[in-house]
Amino acid sequence: TKALEIVGLEKTYSNGVQAVKGIDLTVEKGDFFALLGANGAGKSTTIGVISSLVNKTKGTVKVFGHDIDTDLGKAKTNLGLVPQEFNFSQFETLNQILVNQAGYYGVPRAEAHKRADELLAQLGLADKKDKQARTLSGGMKRRLMIARALMHKPQLLILDEPTAGVDIELRRSMWEFLKEINLQGVTIILTTHYLEEAEMLCKNIAIIDKGQIIENTNMKSLLAKL
Ligand code: ADP
Ligand code: ADP
Repeated sequence: TKALEIVGLEKTYSNGVQAVKGIDLTVEKGDFFALLGANGAGKSTTIGVISSLVNKTKGTVKVFGHDIDTDLGKAKTNLGLVPQEFNFSQFETLNQILVNQAGYYGVPRAEAHKRADELLAQLGLADKKDKQARTLSGGMKRRLMIARALMHKPQLLILDEPTAGVDIELRRSMWEFLKEINLQGVTIILTTHYLEEAEMLCKNIAIIDKGQIIENTNMKSLLAKL
């Protein structure tokens, strides 16, 4: 099975904006995949549809073989999403945020605590465990978002512009972490508007422009062309 299979995806918002105009996209299991495009190209809309936050207009989406129209529960179990906006409660502690998230996915409580400790340690947040989220710096909040998305051990991690507004030092350490979890077997898709970020991390890449895929190839072939 493929990690992701999108066929004929279209999204027209209720205001008439055609954000996605017939996208086909396949991502193999184990891949580190970039969806590259300028602001407004349709990246967030596409991953919004994959993660069922945005209703599609047309087309099919399968996550590890599970159709989001008929098998949404299983599709969601396989997917972790890191959206751009910080959407956790600022007044909960990091530990509460992570353990609660695991609860939504039915992870047993003891296991959730263990998992939270592991992820906080891996992401350099161990000493913040019992601090409220509002006390974190922007970069720490971004890492908390990643930890939260990984709490239920999804096979596919999708990140929307993960390093937007993150300084270069932290960006490098986030890249290292993402490479590491990809090596551990998690398929990763990220959206970015930096070619350098895609180049640094990704095996395969699709370029999206005005709601359409204009290039879909491996990173090496793309770089050879430029
Ligand atoms: P849907 O068609 O999926 O129901 P809507 O068109 O109703 O989505 O929009 C969802 C939300 O996004 C609304 O609150 C809307 O105000 C907001 N929105 C509208 N235009 C934009 C835009 N260009 N970028 C981001 N959000 C927008
Ligand atoms: P990207 O993530 O590549 O910047 P988006 O998917 O956010 O692109 O946006 C694609 C297009 O859809 C843009 O023209 C944007 O203004 C529009 N758009 C995004 N969200 C909404 C929304 N909720 N309602 C209406 N239009 C939207």
